[in-house]
Amino acid sequence: PLLIVLFASIIAYVLTHWFIRNVANAYYELQSAIKNGHIKAYAQPLIYSHSGQLSGLEILARWHHPKFGLINPDTFIQVAEETGLIIQLTQTLFKQVATTLADYADRLPDQLHVGFNISREHCKSLQLVEDCKKFLVQAKNKTIILVIEITERQLIEVTDMTTKLFKELHELNAKIALDDFGVGNSNLSYLNNFAIDYLKIDRSFVGHIGSDALSKNILDSIIEITQACNIESCAEGVETEEQALYLKEKGVTYQQGYYYLEPIAIEDFVQHPMFQKCL
Ligand code: C2E
Ligand code: CA
Ligand code: CA
Ligand code: CA
Repeated sequence: PLLIVLFASIIAYVLTHWFIRNVANAYYELQSAIKNGHIKAYAQPLIYSHSGQLSGLEILARWHHPKFGLINPDTFIQVAEETGLIIQLTQTLFKQVATTLADYADRLPDQLHVGFNISREHCKSLQLVEDCKKFLVQAKNKTIILVIEITERQLIEVTDMTTKLFKELHELNAKIALDDFGVGNSNLSYLNNFAIDYLKIDRSFVGHIGSDALSKNILDSIIEITQACNIESCAEGVETEEQALYLKEKGVTYQQGYYYLEPIAIEDFVQHPMFQKCL
């Protein structure tokens, strides 16, 4: 038994050190990436179902790594969240997008929706309200509608603070969107508590239009919930014309997906015909 204990302690020791080194490394790497401007804002259009017009864009983070090339957010957002770096990361995205849009400030279409993915960590104080105000000033356009996408995967507690936070965001004319609806905690009380303005329907449901009956029933039910609650809806991951037509017929408000455009760097987005023709 002594040998087993000894062996187990050695393993625990090695694992702990490996863990600390790698997490510390990840922290350091990500922190310098943020500082050196290697985290880039990409943008994907949102389209009004009924008219096919551009309603706005969602900002998605990309890491341009000098050694490893383009890194997708699934591999670094979690580290950013666990280390608290997510706030700085989001702030650099706000800044890049605001300064890029500011060049078009007096020509932007009215009520352009600009969506950011906001982590729970960022909702723990009123800092987010300050960040949003700063964004609106830097973007130099008074009609922009900020969209704050919060995910269902990380429940945000209803407290006096968070209630105040969402109230102040609404006072800035921002909209609150509940992301990943249907795959997370599907907490319908959220819709009321934070006065959610729209639901983003996860692409796993959209991808099954025309094939999988169960997913399609779930999709139809989610759309019905939004209509019954009188909130807007956005379908993600639209890849085919068949999906686009189905969602339009069902009355989904916005659509987003490769069928329209994949996410591209924000500087390319503002040059893209889809954006240029709205100016
Ligand atoms: P999400 O917010 O659900 O974003 C949608 C994801 O679907 C994006 O992946 C987008 O590139 C991808 N996508 C869009 N259209 C299609 C399509 O037609 N087909 C398919 N298969 N995929 C499509 P991405 O950019 O890799 O982001 C993954 C997730 O990382 C995001 O999911 C979001 O939860 C998170 N994320 C990205 N940027 C940020 C950020 O700045 N802050 C935070 N907190 N999270 C972020
Ligand atoms: Ca999102
Ligand atoms: Ca989503
Ligand atoms: Ca998703």
